[in-house]
Amino acid sequence: MDGRPVDVAKPHLFNERTLDGYRRTLADGIDRVVSRIGRADRPFTGISAAALAREIAEVDLDRPLGEAAVALDELEDVYLRDAVYFHHPRYLAHLNCPVVIPALLGEAVLTAVNSSLDTWDQSAGGTLIERRLIDWTAGRLGLGPYADGVFTSGGTQSNLHALLLAREEALAGGREKQHRLRVITSEAAHFSVRKSAKLLGLAPNAVIVVETDADRRMRPAALARELDRCRRENLPVMAVVATAGTTDFGSIDPLPEIARLCAGAGAWLHADAAYGCGLLVSRTRRHLLDGVERADSVTVDFHKSFFQPVSSSAVLVRDRAVLRHAAYHADYLNPAGTAGRIPNQVDKSLQTTRRFDALKLWLTLRVMGPDAIGALFDEVVDLAAATWVLLNEDPRFEVVTRAQLSTVVFRYLPADPGRALAGEANLYAREALAASGAAMVAATRVDGRHYLKFTLLNPETTLDDIAHVLDLLAGHAERYVNDRVPLGVSAG
Ligand SMILES: *Cc1c(COP(=O)(O)O)cnc(C)c1O
Repeated sequence: MDGRPVDVAKPHLFNERTLDGYRRTLADGIDRVVSRIGRADRPFTGISAAALAREIAEVDLDRPLGEAAVALDELEDVYLRDAVYFHHPRYLAHLNCPVVIPALLGEAVLTAVNSSLDTWDQSAGGTLIERRLIDWTAGRLGLGPYADGVFTSGGTQSNLHALLLAREEALAGGREKQHRLRVITSEAAHFSVRKSAKLLGLAPNAVIVVETDADRRMRPAALARELDRCRRENLPVMAVVATAGTTDFGSIDPLPEIARLCAGAGAWLHADAAYGCGLLVSRTRRHLLDGVERADSVTVDFHKSFFQPVSSSAVLVRDRAVLRHAAYHADYLNPAGTAGRIPNQVDKSLQTTRRFDALKLWLTLRVMGPDAIGALFDEVVDLAAATWVLLNEDPRFEVVTRAQLSTVVFRYLPADPGRALAGEANLYAREALAASGAAMVAATRVDGRHYLKFTLLNPETTLDDIAHVLDLLAGHAERYVNDRVPLGVSAG
């Protein structure tokens, strides 16, 4: 197409004159994804970062291809061919779920309409839909009549937001004690607790980590001891962070006991249910979250256990008045005086311009309903229990805790002469498996040792898939122990 640059550019604008192009272009994009998903016989091709980096570096960003179809051809090479596919039943690594179609529909609609949920005058119905979903979630949590919250980009932001509110409450009497504030959490908590403490300007030793029991749940006695010590040493406990579903072990801290201790000490209780929030819609396991209703704030990640695409998360609070700590007023946006009269979500959020992620959950609930989501989550929790049994009976492996959610932490244990190589053999097995693309598992450390981890979030994964992946892992590990293949040469 010739002409002035602006005339060449205008057909790419999305408006009433370009609807055919919009429909064709998106349909083409969907077709590419359809054919990739239809053909994916492995979760990953195993390509190395260096090989892919070369392809991406070669793209000249100042020389456009002009046609979406041509750009999609290129995208096949630089992204789609080698992406990691979470929908694949042998993707068993991190907390990435396969997604449900109603949520994908929501994603397509929300990006096209492109509402921004900062102010009512940019979102209208979007704001009210988000508020209904916050109320619905708070209702499932049992946070009471004054609860509120807001959607966020993820659990990390939700935790930061909650801890910001807790800090402001703790500093109500004066900011000079900020350097004395303490946050107590367990050794199995998510690293975003420490990161938040740093971002909030707390002292480097502000986060006190208490030990967990054999099931990797916070020991209430250890928490009581630390609360007591902080009181004696005049260190205000700004928050206790309990985890409802630890990232590695899927363990749920004993919320009722922790809530009782927090109430006794006057400490803010934040429940990090980024992973465990799927239990809110389980018809058989909701009781595992009992006690969460006593938290002052809660993190939920719908993009972990509600089968939602990234991003979809929320932070909720028991007392909506605390949200004022994140409110600022700008004359151009939400001038002082409009609060309460006009529903501006920017008054509650750390973000300004913000995606209408809530629409994905809305359509999911309207099409499928909560029980259906809960049934999918229950399925993977059942699978994790069966996997634990399988591993426990398998002499090649040692398995750690019996998870309450859907992770399984285990390691290959070589028979005796090679036992000293267990750590390296497990590292090697994971790397070799990923390089083959046949399956993906995660790694973690337990008591200083290297372990492997399944995070099971795909209801289509079967116990046969698991058994097959265990055979592959054992094969790689045995090869390492017997041949002493050096680490790092597995790729290819
Ligand atoms: C994943 C996770 C987070 C962080 O959530 P993101 O959405 O990845 O930012 C926080 N806490 C726990 C327990 C998690 O598992």
